[in-house]
Amino acid sequence: MAVPISQAWTVATYVLRQKRKGRKRFPLVTMLEPLFRCNLACAGCGKIQYPAHILKQELTPEECFRAVEEAGTPMVAIPGGEPLLHPQIDKIVEGLVARKKYVYMCTNALLLKEKLHLFKPSKYFSFSVHVDGQRDHHDFSVCREGGYDIAVDAVKAAVAAGFRVTTNTTLFDGADPNSVRAFFDEMMAIGVESMMVAPGYTYEKAPDQKHFLGRARSRRLFRAILSNRKKTWRFNASPMYMEFLMGKREFSCTPWGMPAYSVFGWQKPCYLLQDGYADTFQELMETTDWANYGKESGNPKCANCMVHSGYEASGVYYTFGSMRGLLDTAIATIFDQYEDRGALDLLNQPTKPVHSFNPLVQITTHIETQAAVEEGTTA
Ligand code: SF4
Repeated sequence: MAVPISQAWTVATYVLRQKRKGRKRFPLVTMLEPLFRCNLACAGCGKIQYPAHILKQELTPEECFRAVEEAGTPMVAIPGGEPLLHPQIDKIVEGLVARKKYVYMCTNALLLKEKLHLFKPSKYFSFSVHVDGQRDHHDFSVCREGGYDIAVDAVKAAVAAGFRVTTNTTLFDGADPNSVRAFFDEMMAIGVESMMVAPGYTYEKAPDQKHFLGRARSRRLFRAILSNRKKTWRFNASPMYMEFLMGKREFSCTPWGMPAYSVFGWQKPCYLLQDGYADTFQELMETTDWANYGKESGNPKCANCMVHSGYEASGVYYTFGSMRGLLDTAIATIFDQYEDRGALDLLNQPTKPVHSFNPLVQITTHIETQAAVEEGTTA
C-alpha cells in the first residue's frame, strides 16, 4: 500500500463528511510555505526569485497552525523554499503532528542528515525528498553537482532511523522515460515508501523557460513512463490523477483543492499563480473568481498545467463523487500494471536528455550571493 491504511481512511472519511455537509468546494491538502529561502536555485523553480527582504521572512509556528486549522484539511504539504532552513521547522512539524495532520515535508535533503535528530518518526509525518531522476538528470535539474548522491544518502539515513520517506519528482522536456523507470527502481531499492511524479509548471519567473512540457508532450511522456509498471513500484498519488497524466482521462482543475499559505497570506487562486492574496481562508474561497482558472477558462497561464496541486484533488474528488468514480478507482488500484504495447514502442524511441547537450550550470542562490557580497568574495 502506497500510504498507511489509517491515512487513506482519514482522507476518505474527511471527503465523505464534506460531501454530506453539501460543500461544493473544499480543500484536501494545505500547501504551507513557511519561507521562500532555499539552499538550491533550480533552473525550473519559480518560487525563490524574490528580493532578499522577502527571502528573509518566515511564518511563525503559530501562524502555520492557524492557517492549517482555518483550512481544516487532513493533510499538509510543506514546500518552500527549503523548509529545513526554517529555524523552527521542527516545532511546526511537531505541532501539526500533535493535531493529527498527515504532514509531507518537502526537502532537497542537502541538510536532512544533519537535522534528522530534530524530528521524531510518526505515521503522521513523511519526508518528501525532491529527486528529479537518476544522478545526471537530478544534478542538472537542481543545478548542483553531487545533489543526487547527497539526497540518496539522506534518504537511506532517514529510512534507517524509522521515518516515512517519499520522493517528489518533477519532469521537464527531454526527460528520458527509460531513465525515469530505472530511477523508480533505484528509489524502491533504497526503501522509499512511495513516489510522486508530475510535470513541471511553466513558472514565468523560472530562469530556464525552454524545457517546460506542453500537455500533449506530457501525456506522451507519462504514458511511456507509467504504462507497463513493475509490481515493485509504489506511487503516492491518486490512481485517477495518474491516469490523467497518462492521457486516459480528463479532469478540470480544482485550484481550491490544495490552497497555498505563505508569508503573503492565502495565495489566489492556487499554489502556482499569484493573482492576489487573502488574509483568511474564507476570504480566499469567497473572493477568488474561480471561473477564470483551469484549462476550460481559456486562461493562458492554465493552458499547459497538469500539476499535482491543481489536479490531484480533482482525481480524489472524482473517486468519491459517484459509484462510477469508486469503481474506476478500484479497477485502477487492482489492475495497476497498465500493459500497453504502444507505450513500449515509445520507450524504444530515441530521446535526447537535456543534460546530454547542455552543460550543467551551477546557479548560486540569493543567500549565497548575499553572503559572498557581505564577505567581500565577489566582485
Ligand atoms: S490549471 Fe494550474 S495554474 Fe491554473 S489554476 Fe489550476 S493549478 Fe493553477
